[in-house]
Amino acid sequence: MATPLDTFARERGIKNFMVSFTDLYGGQRAKLVPAGAISGVLERGASFAGYATWLDLTPAHPDMLAIPDPNMVIQLPWKPEVAWIASDCAIGTRALEQAPRNVLKRMVQQAAEAGLRVRTGVEPEFFLLSPEGDRIADPLDIGVKPCYDQQAIMRRYDVIAEVSEHMLNLGWEPYQSDHEDGSGQFEMNWKYDDALSTADKFSFFKFMLKSVAEKHGLRATFMPKPFPGITGSGCHVHISCWSQDGETSAFASASDELGLSPLAYHFIGGLIRHAGALTAICNPTVNSYKRINAQRCSSGATWAPQSMTWSGNNRTHMIRVPGPGRIELRLPDGAANPYLLQAIIIAAGLSGIRDKLDPGPRSDVDMYRDAHEVPDTEPLPRNLLDALRAYRDDAPIRALMGEEFSKAYLKLREVEWNSYMQHFTRWEIQHTLDV
Ligand code: ADP
Ligand code: MG
Ligand code: MG
Ligand code: MG
Ligand code: MG
Repeated sequence: MATPLDTFARERGIKNFMVSFTDLYGGQRAKLVPAGAISGVLERGASFAGYATWLDLTPAHPDMLAIPDPNMVIQLPWKPEVAWIASDCAIGTRALEQAPRNVLKRMVQQAAEAGLRVRTGVEPEFFLLSPEGDRIADPLDIGVKPCYDQQAIMRRYDVIAEVSEHMLNLGWEPYQSDHEDGSGQFEMNWKYDDALSTADKFSFFKFMLKSVAEKHGLRATFMPKPFPGITGSGCHVHISCWSQDGETSAFASASDELGLSPLAYHFIGGLIRHAGALTAICNPTVNSYKRINAQRCSSGATWAPQSMTWSGNNRTHMIRVPGPGRIELRLPDGAANPYLLQAIIIAAGLSGIRDKLDPGPRSDVDMYRDAHEVPDTEPLPRNLLDALRAYRDDAPIRALMGEEFSKAYLKLREVEWNSYMQHFTRWEIQHTLDV
């Protein structure tokens, strides 16, 4: 009998399915499966040696299976004979707990059990570099305040317009693209969706943008802080909660000054209480900590938070309320794993709702100028190790995200930290040679 994927292949002329999953470091891994073989893979999964990816499996583990999710299949707009399909990892008949898409699915389920449907939008920022990745591709893009530079974005029109048109054809409802605050830096926006769909789309967006950029002889990077002194790449997340049928906002309230319900304030309370653990996922690399807590950039501001604070419509805090019924988390950067990012936000928010946490009074100060006026603010972790320790010490978050996942994630990121600590720098010589 023909499966929905056989029909999809026949109608669209698909020759190969790209059965894809995401590992703990956010890497996308795939096998190409000829269309004629996809029904077997849909039933039994495609097999992988899990140890060969970042999932904390050993060479002795049985095959890891990636089981395609027919609800998330996308024909590659730049290579229409291939279709990308998001897949879920399993060993035997058991879902692999630490696989990021499984973590997010569990959190979406937990939200559903609390009667909530979480919808989110991401704002990916990225740089377009030379193919070697060592410099901004456009030598003319050197303005001190290059944000929204119309001349510079037109020099990259071919890449931006191509990706935007692809999103339009995919039904994602893209609505704007701009030059961002750093030279060579851009952002593209499309409409928010259910958290799992947003994670799948964000994964696919990274793949699509990198592919189109490569076609044009460029290299797209989501690295959090590729250049000292130039604004880093964030990935803000806008969040709202709804009834299960998606009709009624659980975050909106007409009677509140900012248009937020008590439940939305508890959600904010959860994000603030668990901000340390959140950072371990939202800012997952050594380099991430050069974007947050950063010195002033050449443009005048970093646009990244330094402490665990919230505000109304003020972009110098970790959480902003841009309008009624929605909040913006400005902490995450471009290295955040698309699935774990959504999962940890739901985990922290649900935790805040369950414990009826109060976020405390909002702060309206300009944190880039007057942070000293807010004496009791908690600073964000200063480096990856501090963030990993905060995550390890956060028992409610560990339990919600899953103990097996948490153990695997901490272990792999600690390996990365230790590898970094083995690296010798010029700075050490300059500061220590003559002690
Ligand atoms: P910013 O002003 O922070 O730069 P952008 O327009 O770049 O905002 O991005 C806003 C994001 O928020 C988009 O992904 C948009 O779809 C999303 N968004 C808008 N309304 C909601 C909502 N109610 N819930 C969740 N996300 C939303
Ligand atoms: Mg082989
Ligand atoms: Mg934006
Ligand atoms: Mg931006
Ligand atoms: Mg934003």
